[in-house]
Amino acid sequence: MNYRSTRTASLACHLSEAIVQGPAPDGGLWVPTRIPSIDAQTLPCDAGDAVLTEHLLAPFFANDPLLPHLGWICAHTFRFDIPCVPLAGDHTHVLELFHGPTAAFKDVGARFLAACLQKIQETNGESAQPVTVLVATSGDTGSAVAAAFDGMHAIQVRILYPDGRVSPRQAHQLGCFSSNVRAYRVQGSFDDCQRMVKQAFADPQLRQALRLVSANSINLGRLLPQMSYYAAAATRHWRRQGTLLNFSVPTGNLGNAFAALLARATGLPLGEVILATNRNRVLDRYLDSGRYQPGPSIATLANAMDVGDPSNVERLNWLFPDHARRQAAVRAVWCDDARIERHIREGTARYGRTWCPHTACAVEVLEQRRAQGDSRPWCVVATAHAAKFEGIVEPLIGQPVPVPPGLAAMLARPARSERLAADAGALKSVLLETVHAAA
Ligand SMILES: *Cc1c(COP(=O)(O)O)cnc(C)c1O
Repeated sequence: MNYRSTRTASLACHLSEAIVQGPAPDGGLWVPTRIPSIDAQTLPCDAGDAVLTEHLLAPFFANDPLLPHLGWICAHTFRFDIPCVPLAGDHTHVLELFHGPTAAFKDVGARFLAACLQKIQETNGESAQPVTVLVATSGDTGSAVAAAFDGMHAIQVRILYPDGRVSPRQAHQLGCFSSNVRAYRVQGSFDDCQRMVKQAFADPQLRQALRLVSANSINLGRLLPQMSYYAAAATRHWRRQGTLLNFSVPTGNLGNAFAALLARATGLPLGEVILATNRNRVLDRYLDSGRYQPGPSIATLANAMDVGDPSNVERLNWLFPDHARRQAAVRAVWCDDARIERHIREGTARYGRTWCPHTACAVEVLEQRRAQGDSRPWCVVATAHAAKFEGIVEPLIGQPVPVPPGLAAMLARPARSERLAADAGALKSVLLETVHAAA
């Protein structure tokens, strides 16, 4: 299997090259040159998530040096449960993606990416150059990446976050790992952090010296494994009930929901996929009008979805090249902060559940559908545990949210971070200094 750039069909590479490169050299995103078909009859649904994912992804890894290691990579990734549990009657389910170490779905992609890079380094053996993963984060991505690479000493991880603009719990989660993972509190905004990371990637001397790898959501090493939980939930449902399971997916950069669309494109029995967004309405407007109008992001309660220009739209346009096909294939529904608050407040009474603000947007879709008389099977995708957003959730429900054990263990560890000026030159010198010292 080869991968090509969304912008230039002739620009091709292997999967492991795509993983190390991040975006394609022409600025496009890597996509498979063809979509393999997967037979729902033979998907090993009862064998556990690692085995299922190995089967599902083997065609995507065909001919790649990582293929012989795919079993290990999957076993390493799926060390926690991803249950799809019934909610309020027969026809509604919740896909719980928050049982990983940092209590958000990004653990799946981050762990898979870390395992791939580890194997790429091992395969290169003595000739392996040091690899440095560099990320800017407003919270969830950084902690998932930090946790995933914890203790992988052949890989250095550097995380930039805006000082004072992530919650104390999030800051703690970024700084409580082994010495190969370092967190920098940047004296600026998230945009400053992103700009510094972009400048580092654009610096030939740094790229050469450190072999910088991006762990953001456009990386195929994060995107591909996310197909697994949709494949598993939909196929199990289809085998039991003979119907298609429809999904409501909290959406920001469109990485998670795109994985659902890709899983469906392999022929697996997924029903509708609805993109549940917050007040950043670029996707519902695009799918309605056919005009893509990115804008600056708007701050909302579901802050991991505050995206004004979702990167994976470029992959959506590749999968569905014209407006009519896109409209037929996918819809988006948005939710404002007042409704997010209402769903969190009413979650306990209506469903016996405490939703995180992102999942609340997916609940909005469900409730709109049910109000329209839609009685088909729906699955609300729960992207994070409410305990990660205690500052928002606890005042609304009037009681503390119990912290899951993995998160509690992480919060009990000591944490440290280093102060960094919001300046590309300052980042460059700490990178060169700390990575060479570690090598
Ligand atoms: C990152 C994130 C999202 C958005 O996922 P995308 O892949 O960017 O669309 C939704 N919910 C939570 C909790 C997240 O951390």
